[in-house]
Formats: sequence, C-alpha cells, structure tokens
Amino acid sequence: MKAKRQWSGRTRMMLTLELAVVLPAAALVILSAIHLRTVQRDRGVEAAFQRDFYQVLKISEKQFNERATDLLDDIRSQFPAPGAACNETLDRLLASHPYVAHVFLYDPNTGLVRSSQPSRLGNADFRAESDALSGMADGWMKVDYKEEVSRLEGMSKWGRRYDFFDNNPSRGDKHIYQSGALFLTADSSGGNKAIGWVVFDAEYLRDHFFPQMLDSVLTHQEEQGEKNQVVMMLHGKYDWTPLAASAGWDGGEPEVERTLEGAFPGLSLAIKLPGTTLAALEQRFVRTDFLILAAITVLLAGGIVLTHRNIAKEMALARLKSDFVSNVSHELRTPLSLIRLYAETLEMGRLKSQEKYHEYYSIIRKESERLTALINNILDFSRIEAGRKEYDFRETDMRELVRNTLESYRYQIEQSGFDFEEKIAENVPALRVDREAMARSLLNLVNNSLKYSQDRKYIGVNLYRANGSVNLEVVDHGIGIPPQERSKIFEKFYRVGDPLVHNTKGSGLGLSLVRHIVQAHGGEVLVESTPGQGSKFTISLPVVFGTHAAKLASA
Ligand code: ADP
Repeated sequence: MKAKRQWSGRTRMMLTLELAVVLPAAALVILSAIHLRTVQRDRGVEAAFQRDFYQVLKISEKQFNERATDLLDDIRSQFPAPGAACNETLDRLLASHPYVAHVFLYDPNTGLVRSSQPSRLGNADFRAESDALSGMADGWMKVDYKEEVSRLEGMSKWGRRYDFFDNNPSRGDKHIYQSGALFLTADSSGGNKAIGWVVFDAEYLRDHFFPQMLDSVLTHQEEQGEKNQVVMMLHGKYDWTPLAASAGWDGGEPEVERTLEGAFPGLSLAIKLPGTTLAALEQRFVRTDFLILAAITVLLAGGIVLTHRNIAKEMALARLKSDFVSNVSHELRTPLSLIRLYAETLEMGRLKSQEKYHEYYSIIRKESERLTALINNILDFSRIEAGRKEYDFRETDMRELVRNTLESYRYQIEQSGFDFEEKIAENVPALRVDREAMARSLLNLVNNSLKYSQDRKYIGVNLYRANGSVNLEVVDHGIGIPPQERSKIFEKFYRVGDPLVHNTKGSGLGLSLVRHIVQAHGGEVLVESTPGQGSKFTISLPVVFGTHAAKLASA
C-alpha cells in the first residue's frame, strides 16, 4: 500500500514536470521551427524588404517630380507673355537658368520663338540637338497647336500643369537622356494662348540633378531611422547601365525597380542592398535563427534535466526522511520496552539471586545508554542541520580517549560474541579535539561494525600515527558495502537498500554525523570495503590542525 502510494506520488510529480515544463517547451521549440520553415519557404524576409524597397522607390519618384516641377515653376514664372517674346528675352531667361538647355514659345500669331544656351552652341552635338528639337517644335506646333492647347487645358483641370516628353540626343556615338515639359501660357487678358516648352539640360540631369536627388532621398531615409542601408540607380528603358547612381552603388542585379512616370518618363529607378542580396540576407537570417533556436533547445533540455534531477533528489530525500521517522521510532521502542519489562520484574521483587538483580540493573543501564546515544545522535544532527553545532576543542591524549571510550563498551562487544582487538601505538601525539564528539564518532563506527556483522564476528580498533596525521581505524569482517554505495552512506538518512541492513535498526544518521565531526576537525573519513568480507573505516585527523588549533587557543 505504502509503496504504491509513493510510486503514484512520484509518477504524479514526473507527469506534472512533463506537462508543465517539457510539453510547453517542446511546443515552443516545434512551433518556432515550423514558423522559421514557413518564413524560409515563403521567403518572408525577402518579401518584407521588397515592400520597404517599393516604398522607398515611390517616395523617391515623388521627390524627383516635385523637384523638377519646382525648377520648371521657377523659369515659367519669368517667361515672357505671348507677343512680348523674342529671342533676346529667351536668351536672358536661359542665362539665369543654366539647368535648362532649350526654351521654345509658340504663339500662332507670331510663330515659334526659340533659344538654346548660347555658351553650349559651340558643341556640335548640342547644336544638332537644338536644331532637331526646334525643327520638331516648329512642324508640330503649326499642325497640332489647337489639339495641343486643348490637351494641356484638359490636363490642368486635373492639376497637371506640365506635359513631359523624353528625348535621347546623341553625344558622339552614344545617346543621353533628356526630359522636357510643355505648358500653356497666356497674356494678361487670358485670350491669347501660347505653348511653352522647356527642355532640361541633359548633362545637368545626368551629372547633378539625378545624383543629388538619389543621395538626398537616401540621406532622408537614414534620417528617418531606416537601419538597412540601401543604394539606388537610374537607368534607361532598354539600357541597364546606370545613368546616375547614389553614392555606394556597387553594381549587380537590383532587387526592385520602378518605371518612372511624371517628370522623367522612360527612366527606371532601381534599388538594392550594397554588398549583398536579399536572398543571401534571408539565408543568413534563417540560419542565425535556427542556430539560436538550437541553442535555446539545448538550454531548455539542460534545464529540464536539472529540474528532473533535483525533483528526483528531493523526492528521494523525502522518502529517506519518512523511513527515518519509522526507523527511529522502532529504535526507541525496543530499549523502552526492555527497560519497562525489566523494571516491572524488579518491582515485583520475586527474583531469587542477587546476581539476577545485578544482571537486570545492568540491562536497564545499557538500554538507557543506547537510548541516550541515539537521542544524542539526533540532537547533534539537528544542531548541525541548523548550523548551531559548536565544538569544544581541547588538548587531548588520543590514546587515552580511545581506551576510555572503548572500555565501557568492551564488555558489551565481547558479550555479543565478538573478537575484539585494540591496537594503540605509542607515538601518537596529543591533538586538540572535541572529546565528546570524537568519542561519539568512534562509538558510531564500532556500533555499525556490531550491527553489520553476521557470522564472522570481529572488531578491531587501531590508533596510530601516519604521515602528518593520526589515524583511527575501525575494522570488521561483516557484510561489507557495495562499491556504488560507498559515497552515499555518508549522506544523511541514507541506508543501504540491502535486506541485511533493512533488518537492522538504524536511523541513517551515524555516518553523516561522523563525517561532519571529522571535517570540523580538519580531517576526513575514508572507507575501504569488500562486500561479504568486511569494512574498514578510517578517521584521519591532521596533526597540523591539532597544533594549529592549539596555537590559536593559547594565543
Ligand atoms: P545506520 O543508522 O543505518 O547504521 P549510518 O549512517 O551509521 O546509519 O550508516 C549508513 C549505512 O551505511 C548503513 O545503513 C549501512 O547500510 C552502511 N554501513 C555503515 N557501516 C557499515 C559497516 N561497518 N558494514 C557494512 N555496512 C555499513
């Protein structure tokens, strides 16, 4: 019944541990792993970056358009009214707006007035560009003037004041991107409408406008606290070599592109991370996360094993304690009932001989001594547990201490049929020890030898000086201790789970007390044993400690 209850308690504990700790931990790890797998499969990291990139491109395009419109508004505000325009007024306008290459004004009454940056006309490519554009403007405006006016009017109703065209004039054997804007102008009466055309300088766009805009967009991004540094470039529709790039552009495949609408038709804006690709980043991210997950799993597993061990230890201790209570009650009951039995017999006064009286008194005395020894052990133990045990070290002749302690016990040992041998060397120095505690240690060892011997009843006590220490040995030819138990027998409450031991009374406190006492003297207890052959317990006390303590005491 008892065993069953304990087992179910243990099972319950382990089940609780598994349900409360192992299961949630395992679930957490498995869910995280599944989540990571999904992220990996769906390229979640890449997608998140791409969304960000689209956003950056959209903002950039807006800024490009706004800046171009500002520049156009500036020159437009100084445009001559239709009728008042002549080549000179346009020349002056260009002089104060170097970012513009050509301006045209078409008024059906006066025809086309035009101007190109005078300083650039020495360049053949530029002159060809100027001629080509003005030829185009002349022919086109004459034919399509009305249609163009109504188109521009329609657009301005929607808030668009400029109609943009792109153009790719040649520079040597290459072409260069250029953008220009058409708009409506009117004289003060508003009746006479003319069409203005401003064409940006291609080199200005390529060398100043685009790089500056790209850099300013990225700086703005950084100021907004964007952690991932990005780089951008602009390229033509069919030409993937960058027309302009932000600082740090390192070539390679862009991650996301956007075809520009608005001020710079025919151009695409591209973005990427410098020095790496999103795919590589994603891989690194997933790998790092898997590593972290693995580390956490190991930590969790370690924690669970530790908890498991601790619980098992606590439960073993709880079991030992309950065994202890029943063992001690047993041990108390036997001497008590003996004492009562013999005392009652004596009380009746019917004993015949004086010897019998003597024998009974002696039994009562011995049993009460046993009781005292047991209770002293328990008291000592509780003092040690509470950290209140104090030792009274005094200069002691160890030979005398051992002899006196055994003297009162010798009779009992020999009565129990034991061969008792006592070897005390001559050269044993005096040590500073707590006499009572030392005597108790010795008695505990001798008592164990008495308890754990069967047919071969022998007890030997040896006291001698070894290198730097005084050794006190208790030898028996008893049941011995299996090797795996030897370290445990010094633990509190611990008793070897052998039926031979079980049948012997004991509290499991004796050896733990001996070890505590000996350690308090700076020494150690050693055990050598062969199961079935016998055991040898050795209390080894350092002579140095004794002398050191003596010095301390005399100081
Ligand atoms: P107990 O009250 O059980 O004797 P101890 O702490 O003195 O407690 O001893 C712990 C255990 O060590 C004993 O239960 C016994 O199994 C084992 N033991 C101690 N001394 C001996 C010995 N001389 N021979 C065999 N086993 C011993």
